[in-house]
Amino acid sequence: MLRIDFHVHTSHSFDGRISPEQLAALSKKTGVIPAITDHDGIGAHSEFRKFGVPFIPGEEIETAQGDFIGLFVNEPVKRGVDFYEALDSFRSQGAIPYAPHMFDSLRPGLAKEEYGRASDIIEVFNARSLERFDKKAEEFAKREGKPMAAGSDSHYPYEFGTTYTELNLSEDQLQPKPLLKALKNAKIVGKRTSLLKRKIAKYTGIYL
Ligand SMILES: [Zn+2]
Repeated sequence: MLRIDFHVHTSHSFDGRISPEQLAALSKKTGVIPAITDHDGIGAHSEFRKFGVPFIPGEEIETAQGDFIGLFVNEPVKRGVDFYEALDSFRSQGAIPYAPHMFDSLRPGLAKEEYGRASDIIEVFNARSLERFDKKAEEFAKREGKPMAAGSDSHYPYEFGTTYTELNLSEDQLQPKPLLKALKNAKIVGKRTSLLKRKIAKYTGIYL
């Protein structure tokens, strides 16, 4: 059984405050495996590998149509490209296209169903999103029969560890195919993070 948080930022994201070293320690402590999905870059992957802690190397890109994530990314994809160009780049390197916080109109979530249909995984719980947006994503994923996952969208250390997807998978099966298969019977565990706490962290630099 693995617990995976499919959406985590490190200090390699312009707005991330978790160093790869800190994330490795948090992962060991909580038993939650992170997908490292920094904005527009994969610089944290090589740094994180040094700690010998399992993770999914990913990237979150701001496409022209909204935020989009690739899981198991080796080659970074440039920001600002068209959704379908990013999709092609992910597919050509065997990465899994993952639609984060879809329909979230307060953030650049992909708004059209066609982008969700083109993705392999729909994020149906994002700890930073409002419940109504997540519900819409969940309804969509169920209707389309798409694998569903949860992501904390952590940028601060305190956000990591309480949102994850529980999968019947072993560490050595942490690969695209077995992962997609296991997601069919996965359990979503999510805890929403406080917007107030995030604002305080952003403007004062104080967080626990
Ligand atoms: Zn994110």
